[in-house]
Amino acid sequence: MRRELEPSQAAVVASVNDVLDGLGPDADFRAAFAALGAERLLAVHYPAEFGGRGLSLAHHAAVSECLGLRGLPDVAHLITVQGVGCPLLVFGTAAQRRRWLPEIAAGRLLASLLLSEQGAGSDLTRITTTAVPCADGWEISGRKSWSLLTPWSGIALCSVRTGQDGSRYDGISLFLVDLGDPGVRIEPAPRAAGEPYYTVTLDRVHVTADALVGELHRGWALLPTVIGFERGGFDYLTRAQSWLAAAGAAFTDLPAADREPLAGEFVRCELLVENARALAYHAAADADGLESDEIVTAYAKLASGLAAQAVTRWAAEELLGAGPDGPHRAALRAAVAEAPELTVSGGAQELQLDLIAGDLVIGRTIR
Ligand SMILES: Cc1cc2nc3c(=O)[nH]c(=O)nc-3n(C[C@H](O)[C@H](O)[C@H](O)COP(=O)(O)OP(=O)(O)OC[C@H]3O[C@@H](n4cnc5c(N)ncnc54)[C@H](O)[C@@H]3O)c2cc1C
Repeated sequence: MRRELEPSQAAVVASVNDVLDGLGPDADFRAAFAALGAERLLAVHYPAEFGGRGLSLAHHAAVSECLGLRGLPDVAHLITVQGVGCPLLVFGTAAQRRRWLPEIAAGRLLASLLLSEQGAGSDLTRITTTAVPCADGWEISGRKSWSLLTPWSGIALCSVRTGQDGSRYDGISLFLVDLGDPGVRIEPAPRAAGEPYYTVTLDRVHVTADALVGELHRGWALLPTVIGFERGGFDYLTRAQSWLAAAGAAFTDLPAADREPLAGEFVRCELLVENARALAYHAAADADGLESDEIVTAYAKLASGLAAQAVTRWAAEELLGAGPDGPHRAALRAAVAEAPELTVSGGAQELQLDLIAGDLVIGRTIR
């Protein structure tokens, strides 16, 4: 059974659709974000003083789903509003919140996450980017990988080593970096589908002491929460939904006799996606304020990624070889190329399984 939005969530989504429907055909995603921001619809779960509407994470989830299904770059929304904005709300200083959150919520500022490095993706303790103290702050040098939409971003939340003593979990700190600094170089790197990744080289990039987010050397403790904000995002789900829609359209294009033997598997894909949607909304509704439960989110992320992969596997095996070519098939080919990323990005599936297994072993199951 399809989960319906609650009336107040549906009302917010209707407002989002009104704003987007009112945009001209040439409006790019920045214009769409600015128009939504002007109505406090880009970050509805931020407090009003920072440009939001003070609504729940579940309302934000409904907006995210709407944006993803309308083809707006959900990654920009996800990483900026959730990945960078929410850590600032939770761990940022009052000055950081005042300075950055209204800009993010208004759609005037995009922000990137610079956490991963070659050799330090799932294991973020292996980063080699360092910050060394200078007269009025720090100088950051290193190379970050797999950042998305970075050329459009003004700032980035960047993990660095500020110390090497003690355990590998100590001595990691988080800084806000100005991506316009002359020491920042942003270069595209190949990707199987969609926007390229960007490699970001930082060469003695200067940050002032007030760019530190959270405690010095104690950044590791914040990272699960930072990544949790991203992981709870709906971009995995909306991929599964959009790809299912494209598969459904390609399926409908087939002659009736060819459709019949495939119908059962199509329904199975529909159920997987709907289950993933129910879990994603459950994770948002179950959140404690802005923070989703790590285990519930792990289930939701895994379910969305695996559902999306089931759709593309079915499309590749049964749909792409037969029938006339068209826009649905082109979308499905891009989806087939992108699908493997969904169980690697934002925490590989093995990490999600470890979380779930650990939780089951200590006896607590999904609520
Ligand atoms: C679309 C996309 C967008 C991204 N955006 C950003 C971004 O904006 N900012 C950013 O900092 N990073 C970003 N990343 C990086 C992403 O978070 C890392 O790529 C991811 O954590 C995997 O890192 P890795 O490539 O080093 O692979 P690894 O972590 O080395 O994984 C390689 C393989 O090993 C498996 N594996 C990993 N851990 C385990 C384990 N414990 N046990 C068993 N197997 C394991 C994985 O499933 C995978 O198949 C993005 C990645 C993708 C795909």
